[in-house]
Amino acid sequence: MRAVVLERPNSFQLTDVSDPVPSATEVVIRVAAAGICGTDLHIVDGLFPPTPYPIIPGHEFAGEVVAVGSEVDFLSEGARVAVDPSLFCGHCPACQRQRGNLCAQWGAVGDTVNGAFAEYVAVPAGNVHSIPDSVSFSEAALVEPLACAVHGLNRLRLTPGASLLVVGAGTMGLLLAQLARRTGAATLIVVDTDQSRRQLAEKLGFGTAASIPDALGELPSGYDFVVEATGVPAAGQAALHAVARGGTFMVFGVAPERATLEVSPFSVYNDEITIVGSMAVLNTFPAALRMLASGAVDTDVMVSHTFGLGDFAEALRTVRERTGLKVQVMPSR
Ligand SMILES: [Zn+2]
Ligand SMILES: [Zn+2]
Repeated sequence: MRAVVLERPNSFQLTDVSDPVPSATEVVIRVAAAGICGTDLHIVDGLFPPTPYPIIPGHEFAGEVVAVGSEVDFLSEGARVAVDPSLFCGHCPACQRQRGNLCAQWGAVGDTVNGAFAEYVAVPAGNVHSIPDSVSFSEAALVEPLACAVHGLNRLRLTPGASLLVVGAGTMGLLLAQLARRTGAATLIVVDTDQSRRQLAEKLGFGTAASIPDALGELPSGYDFVVEATGVPAAGQAALHAVARGGTFMVFGVAPERATLEVSPFSVYNDEITIVGSMAVLNTFPAALRMLASGAVDTDVMVSHTFGLGDFAEALRTVRERTGLKVQVMPSR
């Protein structure tokens, strides 16, 4: 089969490798659509420590089951599926507390074992979720980032009627905002310094602001919930000041590992500020899939570019240039 093989950081090629064969508990998926995200850029750049090389990346994907392991009795060839890439060990202290996304041996298809920028990929059968006929493969490849957004909302504990400020109108910020609109936020503003990103947010029906001070102009007492979805430390620093008394600040974007924020312990104490983080996916695939199938997400706006496997370099460039939102690779094209 053809696959994008990352030999080492910053060195990948489209090459022929042998087709994956399912173990007894795996299935093989013919990949129809696979999204590229910020983590893939980090993997290509060698900045995602759990990744071994060589590897075939790609962790946001959907396709058709084409081979089934001998012990798998609940899936058959031809099933249309989305795949939860999570690989949790199941026995470490975090897994035993039902928090597998914090697993001591955390892994993911496409991040720590071969993934979906290929014609075929073998995955544990238990990670596979059937999709309704009404959901296209391209839409189903959005379930993984949407499952991260569902986990974010679970961590946020958004209350009905609350005010919410989403900082960053990228894929993750806009997915979370679309779910939050359905789940109770009464006031919802999306902040982005980039005008074209603000236009996309407006196209989705959101009020926007070009800066945190502008957003505070709309609601001077601050927002009950502030979600930092850029990973840019300066944006996080400014966003901290937009939290209302009694409010919650959530770190959702991936900042550089050594970045720091200045937090006033007096305000955290005196204003009873809650600070939470949200990391990847935790048993949120079914909910994300139901939300997607219900029409909660405008997939036409979200999927801005598609490329064939042969155009992987150009697809990566498109993600880096931030000209669109979700960029997908269609390996069978
Ligand atoms: Zn991702
Ligand atoms: Zn574990």
